[in-house]
Amino acid sequence: MQRFHGGETYLCKKSLPVEIKSAAFVISNTDIEKCPSDDKPEYAFIGRSNVGKSSLINMLTQKKGLAKTSGKPGKTQLINHFMINDEWYIVDLPGYGYAKTSKKNRAIWEKFISDFLTKRESLVNIFVLLDSRLEPQKIDLEFMNWCGEKQLPFSMVFTKIDKLSSSALQKNLARYKKEMLKYWEELPPVFVTSSTSAFGREKLLNYIEAINENM
Ligand code: GDP
Repeated sequence: MQRFHGGETYLCKKSLPVEIKSAAFVISNTDIEKCPSDDKPEYAFIGRSNVGKSSLINMLTQKKGLAKTSGKPGKTQLINHFMINDEWYIVDLPGYGYAKTSKKNRAIWEKFISDFLTKRESLVNIFVLLDSRLEPQKIDLEFMNWCGEKQLPFSMVFTKIDKLSSSALQKNLARYKKEMLKYWEELPPVFVTSSTSAFGREKLLNYIEAINENM
């Protein structure tokens, strides 16, 4: 039973940083049946609305307008596929935890996302985005525990680290780790990122590349 990619050690190429040669939007939809059917590896990005998901996708791909960034949380309710280097997909999933969303909308979101995450065979890893400024949030812990229960490999990606001091960051990381270790014997891989400085870009892309090469 493998819960996390990272229980194994993936060798990373030291000399060559991963190059994003191409990144293109492919399709947006609410229907899993309409997602691409070429079986290329998929990496999902998910988190609370406003966590910095679109900014992170744009930073990783170095394409400013690829994923829409918006000040209006809860707007994107679609599964967005982006083809990277003609080899793998970034899957931008709708943000969760938008307070103003109705119960009905939330139920629809849950069904649609849980269907995608549990049924999609080409899904390789879920990057769960966490705002590094916040202490552990119930909704994020619940979501990660759900991923673990469903044996879906996931990683924790802390966003916006430029917005706090390194000591505050270390404190919040430690809190999250402590919370996670209440439920899990080991931690999933952890990444710390900033979309403004591109911190963490290479590590995250190398991680994806290493998994792709081992597939
Ligand atoms: P999404 O709703 O999760 O897609 O979040 P967005 O990418 O639209 O970001 C929400 C807000 O946070 C926007 O105002 C971004 O400019 C800002 N933001 C996102 N990532 C970062 C980051 O790494 N550093 C800083 N300083 N701001 C960020």
